[in-house]
Amino acid sequence: MSGTDVVVVGAGNAAMCAALAASESGARVTVLEAAPREQRGGNSAHSGGAFRVSYDTADDLLRIMPDLSESEIEMTDFGSYGRDQFFDDLARLSHYRADPDLAAVLVDESHETLAWLGRLGVRFLPIYGRQAVRSNGRFKFWGGLTVEASGGGRGLVDALHAAAELRSISVLYGARARSLVEGSGGVAGVRFAMDGEDRVIPASAVVLACGGFHANAEWRARYLGPNWDLVKVRGSRFNTGAGIEMALALGAMSHGHWSGCHSVAYERNAPPFGDIDLLGQQKNSFPFGIVVNARGERFFDEGADFRNYTYSNLGRAILAQPGGFAWQIFDARVAHLLTDEYRIRQITKVAADSIEGLADQLDGVDRAGFLRTIARYNDAVDVETPFDPAVKDGRAARAVEPVKSNWANRIDKPPFLAFAVACGITFTYGGIGIDPDGRVIAQAGDPIPGLYASGELVGGLYYDAYPGGAGLMSGAVFGRRAGANAARRAIGLRRCDAGL
Ligand SMILES: Cc1cc2nc3c(=O)[nH]c(=O)nc-3n(C[C@H](O)[C@H](O)[C@H](O)COP(=O)(O)OP(=O)(O)OC[C@H]3O[C@@H](n4cnc5c(N)ncnc54)[C@H](O)[C@@H]3O)c2cc1C
Repeated sequence: MSGTDVVVVGAGNAAMCAALAASESGARVTVLEAAPREQRGGNSAHSGGAFRVSYDTADDLLRIMPDLSESEIEMTDFGSYGRDQFFDDLARLSHYRADPDLAAVLVDESHETLAWLGRLGVRFLPIYGRQAVRSNGRFKFWGGLTVEASGGGRGLVDALHAAAELRSISVLYGARARSLVEGSGGVAGVRFAMDGEDRVIPASAVVLACGGFHANAEWRARYLGPNWDLVKVRGSRFNTGAGIEMALALGAMSHGHWSGCHSVAYERNAPPFGDIDLLGQQKNSFPFGIVVNARGERFFDEGADFRNYTYSNLGRAILAQPGGFAWQIFDARVAHLLTDEYRIRQITKVAADSIEGLADQLDGVDRAGFLRTIARYNDAVDVETPFDPAVKDGRAARAVEPVKSNWANRIDKPPFLAFAVACGITFTYGGIGIDPDGRVIAQAGDPIPGLYASGELVGGLYYDAYPGGAGLMSGAVFGRRAGANAARRAIGLRRCDAGL
């Protein structure tokens, strides 16, 4: 820990990208990780490892997935996901509030940043299982999300740490950062607790990458609103807003959607925090069925868009229902389209050969209300338009409220299936302001010397909804920038001190 130029707080994707970029730029780097080694890597380790990246052709994908075989390329319609589309998705889903300068950098550097991670040893694969549909012997990708890290989030974090080890980046586990040290020229180090002792690590630059505040029940109730203290946490228990608090204490600008967060439909009886070894508690196949509340009523358009663009708001919608729970309903017609998350043992599932038999088992649901909903919904389905899960097929149920805009099928083919879900929070959207170089900015808009940030604790990119896979991508793009710029400053100061 002696002779550190740059301290990185956190050891997830954003942090390790910053640490690796700083090291590549010649800085001596120390990483502080609050978690013990076996739980390192925060939400990144809990994640599916999917990265939203722009590409025009399969050749672009080959550059980041050089292992793709000719037969894979032949049997797959990867489509394209151009820069404009990525930028438009960020703008549209945030209701045009996303910071355009940050969004432009994220989009423009997404491809090159994955290529950089590839050079560092992270291997990428196509997400055939969750993001492609097979029809007539070919796979077709449908939602702009094509690439995942080998081994998912855990594989990504292990690969990043292996790269850090090769470069002699020191990682201190069980090291919880508590505050920033200020010097005459800016940030001069970090105070942290480790092994029951308070310690200080001096440095010329600090990169904060220690996540948002999703694991802090008190902040959730304070900023997200009533009952958010009750929700399940999908990921790391270590992200409590510490980095945000440390930066605000130094005058950083609070930025972004502080009352907004990413939250999904999640196993109703899941444990309170995520378990890295027990992935798959989210339930995202709702576009192919319907979702009912305690009154047995539908409460949102399950087919409004591809799930990658709607899933991040569903937890909030469920929390607002009576009792804060819902049931997802499917029949045999679509059971084969349910993702693997619906086939794990830790699941609250009921099945029946009749819809009445299913109604009897829906814990907490008004039976008559549910049967009425099914009857009205079945009557409203447009059976003339062909069903196609790979496109927005326009097969709607319009004469019901709310409408279902796509992928509507009558629910009449036994066996019938139902899954109980509640709100699971993934991460929070509000945080601190940065400029495109990853420098933390103060309320007046000027950078705080020596302070950089990346990842979940940065505000300004996501408002209301979120395009799946943008979290890891933005952490990597801005982590890399923040790390390189932190190193530049630290090395510059080192040279000044040496009188060079
Ligand atoms: C179940 C799940 C699935 C997801 N799937 C995807 C996906 O497929 N694609 C995608 O893009 N996004 C996904 N996400 C979101 C994604 O995980 C996050 O956007 C991203 O990982 C955030 O990275 P980060 O580096 O900012 O934070 P994290 O990865 O959470 O890292 C924060 C780090 O800071 C440490 N820390 C916290 N406080 C302190 C402190 N005081 N001192 C020192 N260290 C501290 C933590 O232990 C951790 O190491 C998923 C999230 C979850 C929970």
